[in-house]
Amino acid sequence: MLELDASQIQMGCHAADKAQALAMLSEALVEGGLATAAYLQGLQAREAQGSTFLGQGVAIPHGTPQTRDHVLRTGVRLIQFPEGVDWGNGQQVYLAIGIAAQSDEHLHLLQLLTRALGEGDLSQALRQAREPEQLVELLQGAPQALALDGQLVGLGLQIEDFDELLWQGARLLRQAECASSGFALGLARSEPLPLGEGLWWLHSEQSVLRPGLAFVTPAQPLQFRGEVLKGLFCLASQGEAHRQALERLCDVLIGGRAAELSEANDSRRVIEALGGEVAPDWPSLTLPLLNAHGLHARPAKVLSELAQRFGGELRVRLSGDEGAGVSVKSLSRLLSLGARRGQMLHFSAEPSIAADALPALQAALESGLGEAVEPLLAEQGAALLPAAAHVPMAPPAGSQLMAVAASPGIAIGPALVRIFPRFEYAEHGKGVDAERQRLQAARAVVAGQVQRLVDGAGVASIREIFSAHLAMLDDPALIDDVEARLLAGASAEAAWQHEIDAAAQRQEALHDALLAERAADLRDIGRRVLAQLCGVTLPDEPREPYILVMDEVAPSDVAGLDRQRVAGILTARGGATAHSAIIARALGIPALVGAGEAVLALAQNTLLLLDGDSGLLRVAPDQDTQQQALHEREAAQLRQQQAHAERLHPAITRDGVQIEVAANIGASGETAEAVALGAEAVGLLRTELVFMEHAQAPSQAAQEREYRRVLDALGGRPLVVRTLDVGGDKPLPYWPMPSEENPFLGVRGIRLSLQRPDILETQLRALLASADGRALRIMFPMVSTVEEWRVARDMAQRLREEIPVADLQLGIMIEVPSAALMAPVLAREVDFFSIGTNDLTQYCLAIDRGHPTLSAQADGLHPAVLRLISMTVDAAHAHGKWVGVCGELASDRLAVPLLVGLGVDELSVSPRSIALVKARVRELTMSAARTLAEQALTLDSAAAVRALIAGMH
Ligand code: PEP
Ligand code: MG
Repeated sequence: MLELDASQIQMGCHAADKAQALAMLSEALVEGGLATAAYLQGLQAREAQGSTFLGQGVAIPHGTPQTRDHVLRTGVRLIQFPEGVDWGNGQQVYLAIGIAAQSDEHLHLLQLLTRALGEGDLSQALRQAREPEQLVELLQGAPQALALDGQLVGLGLQIEDFDELLWQGARLLRQAECASSGFALGLARSEPLPLGEGLWWLHSEQSVLRPGLAFVTPAQPLQFRGEVLKGLFCLASQGEAHRQALERLCDVLIGGRAAELSEANDSRRVIEALGGEVAPDWPSLTLPLLNAHGLHARPAKVLSELAQRFGGELRVRLSGDEGAGVSVKSLSRLLSLGARRGQMLHFSAEPSIAADALPALQAALESGLGEAVEPLLAEQGAALLPAAAHVPMAPPAGSQLMAVAASPGIAIGPALVRIFPRFEYAEHGKGVDAERQRLQAARAVVAGQVQRLVDGAGVASIREIFSAHLAMLDDPALIDDVEARLLAGASAEAAWQHEIDAAAQRQEALHDALLAERAADLRDIGRRVLAQLCGVTLPDEPREPYILVMDEVAPSDVAGLDRQRVAGILTARGGATAHSAIIARALGIPALVGAGEAVLALAQNTLLLLDGDSGLLRVAPDQDTQQQALHEREAAQLRQQQAHAERLHPAITRDGVQIEVAANIGASGETAEAVALGAEAVGLLRTELVFMEHAQAPSQAAQEREYRRVLDALGGRPLVVRTLDVGGDKPLPYWPMPSEENPFLGVRGIRLSLQRPDILETQLRALLASADGRALRIMFPMVSTVEEWRVARDMAQRLREEIPVADLQLGIMIEVPSAALMAPVLAREVDFFSIGTNDLTQYCLAIDRGHPTLSAQADGLHPAVLRLISMTVDAAHAHGKWVGVCGELASDRLAVPLLVGLGVDELSVSPRSIALVKARVRELTMSAARTLAEQALTLDSAAAVRALIAGMH
């Protein structure tokens, strides 16, 4: 967190103009060890985008997101210019605050400063200050308003004594971020003051973050020190902020109206009586903030200027915060919200202007407040979901469905459709002690169950997930909040479920796929405790191995399964990265996920056949299909066992040609396992995950760490890294892009990287720096023109002069037909090609690779695709360059002989396919494979090619 102190300030400086002032600030940041000299370009670029003038003679120069890599350490440097510096638009700056920050800290500092700058005229005081301490005092010492709103009032709490009431008051102040954890202790040590009429007062300055006043009342009057206690004020005291509220309180008491407080059952009445902030009852609208870097100065300015066009008052607060919010017309107040992307903003407008103002605000927010914005992913998902009223029909017998292949293998068995029962429970409890005990008992039972899952897990990844569940079960903040609900009279079920929901929603609101999956973990543990409390047991399992069908499978559902009883898993929702999918893979249970709601309508015991490799689900297949599937499964199991035993041997054809078999991986952590499964190299490191796991573009250092980890685990084996391949179809949350009608034909892969060369440059730097004398192969995705390749290559070569790498190869992926057709030209310049058959097939056959009904026809064995592969290999070999295939086709049993016959030098496949691909190569002779390939090129369809290869045996 950024803090201000006198040592960061240079007093009495002079700058002829803004450029000089920026240079001086940059120098101060460099001297302080906070940034490198290159950060100056960031300061300049940021000013060019829009002035950083904040108001009151203060500017806050900071770098652009692209120059964050030049930040060494988070911090600030301040320079006072008593004569003023012209910051443009006639604005004079007397104090410039240079910020070096990686991300969020910048918003936090704005919040701090704007609180100080919001009131009165500070500019002259800032200009005339003689000592740095004076400046710090001016910036920090501005009195903060007393927090006093609905979230600080707790009425009718089920508590037994004074200490519990005190603790509740302290908890409210902590939740409102007025105090940190030591505050309750400070409060307990202070002397309670009776105000009369059963009202008491306590205050403490210990661990106070900002001034706030809480008011709590017990459900029944208490006896305390021989007097009655009907209500307790707890003050987080700082300066004089509470004076006005105290005066109002005295007026209430003197006026004989104490009962308005002690007997209140509506927090609004209490707040009104004490003069706190009550949200006006105006027309309102809640909207998400879409801007990638939050409500920073530029979008806030656009918003405030829009608001100023309306005659009446417009207010905004963060959803979930209570109180009246801040004026939308005030730039500094808007900044003080510190709103981030994905947070919901609650706008309210005076009735006279609401009809015009609210739609205008909505349109402005949706269009990005002057910035390009990307919709929030969760909302996109919601928009795609069918209407709630729509109840889908079960897929009929004999039908086939495609789903996401989440865990490999063939499974067959009757369906057990498990839909969670609705939990019925009373909202109000039968006394705090009884409810607390019930909840403790239920948590203890669930903790025992989860502990058994931890102990019984043979796999580290499962152990880790359930250890995290145990920690969630005991999370002190969660328990505190549940306890507060119990005290307020809730039943154990209601208190628990409410807090679990709230915590899961907070996670989901972060709009990050990985964090949202952690919300699924929270809901899982929440449901288990609730089931325990409600005495709910799940339906009986069929006797024979069955296919578990669920909406979404929670991790504990999977880990708790008996491998002998559960043949496979099928879910309506979910993705392959969910914890449940990871666990299914670790347990070796075939799984399909995201099959759509219709599968929930299947009748119990419907026979299902699922293929966890291809993603195909067959409903009530006929006898022949079943038999064939069973044979295939047996044969596949046998082949797998034999291949696994030989996985570490090279793949050499019977006539002595060696084919390199490499692994496709998405994360550094997968490398060691890939090597153990027989990988001779990593043939495709998809770097998207490195970028998707971060809330903003990962820094050079963060990327370097990832790439180094892969190289280390490879122990000298080659590494082929693909530069970032995202785009219209897989956007990054922090990389807003206008939505495209046809994203697969839009800005993706290298096209996108070339539009944001700063990000590509950072990635290339990280890659080169991580090599440390080891061999490195870099390739660019989705190249469709020779120019794209040349621009990317030139950048890599320029950087290589700065960061030398002795053994570097640069290549491209062949994924677009134009690149295959231009291979004879490209082959002169590249070091290698790697053919991405997934995309090459979709572009060649014009079938969307994810199309729900057509994608099965997008077969990479189509002669048209094979011809493109053949052209690519011939062109490469004519120039002495090597060719790999890294699309899914490389692991297709039927495709391997063809690819080898076409002359492909390397096959890069998912780690679990390596052993099988190697075994397949060993069955071949190069001469026969060549003949086969030649024949295949002359055929008329993919089906004919498959028939040809199948007939070979
Ligand atoms: C491909 O297109 O074949 C490929 C390997 O890239 P991705 O599947 O990541 O698009
Ligand atoms: Mg691709």
